[in-house]
Amino acid sequence: MKEVVNVSDVCLKYQSKNGEIEALSHVSFSINSGEYVSIVGPSGCGKSTLLSIIAGLLKPTSGQVFVENQIVEKPSPVLGYMFQKDQLFSWRTVYQNVLLGLEIQHQKTPDNIAYVDKLLKEYGLYEFKDKFPDQLSGGMRQRAALIRTLACRPEILLLDEPFSSLDYQTRLAVADDIYQIIKNEKKTAIMVTHDISESISVSDKVVILSGRPARVKEVLDITFEEPTRTPLTCRKYPEFQKYFNHIWKELDIHVS
Ligand code: ADP
Repeated sequence: MKEVVNVSDVCLKYQSKNGEIEALSHVSFSINSGEYVSIVGPSGCGKSTLLSIIAGLLKPTSGQVFVENQIVEKPSPVLGYMFQKDQLFSWRTVYQNVLLGLEIQHQKTPDNIAYVDKLLKEYGLYEFKDKFPDQLSGGMRQRAALIRTLACRPEILLLDEPFSSLDYQTRLAVADDIYQIIKNEKKTAIMVTHDISESISVSDKVVILSGRPARVKEVLDITFEEPTRTPLTCRKYPEFQKYFNHIWKELDIHVS
């Protein structure tokens, strides 16, 4: 498998008026094409910071990130971002929202518009394209946000807690949905989450970070004997509990 992301010995220190905050310490791991990788760690350990560095939004204090063998120095069209909130504009229709990225990049070509139409049809949103975001369910909104990101044809998707604003039932269904779309479209995904179950259910690999400053405690491969695993079905396999206990122990979570 081809390596598409290499995080190499990345350190990051924030300078604040109260002094220096060390967020990341010598973080290294790599990701292959087509993998769905989750980054888990205690709250405040540096997960979003790491994602921002991979996205080229933040420069590491030392170390480097390579995407497709190029050092990341600024945001690149190879990478697409999807946030916690869907960031759809309420005054624009679904269609106007999903075309927004292309519009900003002056890339609203017939070819790209046809690709967006194909995605909307394939993922059940075409008949809702003239509705406004408020008229859609939480799951449909998340799907629209993903299609907007996919419209610009990134190879790698960066997902920052993409399901955390949804209620539990919706969250399970939407995670399943988004996972299927990402796999069908053969994209590589890097997702930050604090939810251990969610990370196991969608991932090929889980990067477990320590408390701040975040170091890599372990990169865990997630495999199930059942080849037709989906995020929903894999939760009932015996391996699921095994991985859950393992990550829980690594994260060293204490309830006080
Ligand atoms: P996580 O995503 O794991 O919750 P973050 O990456 O958001 O953690 O933050 C890691 C640490 O860095 C936290 O202690 C946070 O308060 C601090 N931090 C984040 N952004 C800044 C900033 N711009 N300036 C100073 N400190 C920051």
